[in-house]
Amino acid sequence: MHELRIASDLASMVAGYASEAGLTKVDRINVSFGQFIQIVPDLFVAAFSEAARDTVASGAELDIEIIPAELRCLGCGSEYKPTGDLCACSICGSEEIALIHGKELFVKSMEGE
Ligand SMILES: [Zn+2]
Repeated sequence: MHELRIASDLASMVAGYASEAGLTKVDRINVSFGQFIQIVPDLFVAAFSEAARDTVASGAELDIEIIPAELRCLGCGSEYKPTGDLCACSICGSEEIALIHGKELFVKSMEGE
């Protein structure tokens, strides 16, 4: 399952940040996802609580923010937000497209002690 793999990546990221910050317990994690990562938030929360079970983030609450995707057309240079999946440029029809936002996954902040 897609969510499980990402959840376990996130659990390792959080464990790394926690140890840098000297936290022994993480209570709350604010995390941002690009739209194209396409997680199902409820599934992700469940997967994360599984992945984090034996880590400092065990039992932590997740606050998930989805970042809208943004594309740049390499044909005409216009930047636009796609309505669905990756799609051709709405202005010139080119399919040569670069992703500006949409695949990121990062921890915005976390709280703990
Ligand atoms: Zn274009």
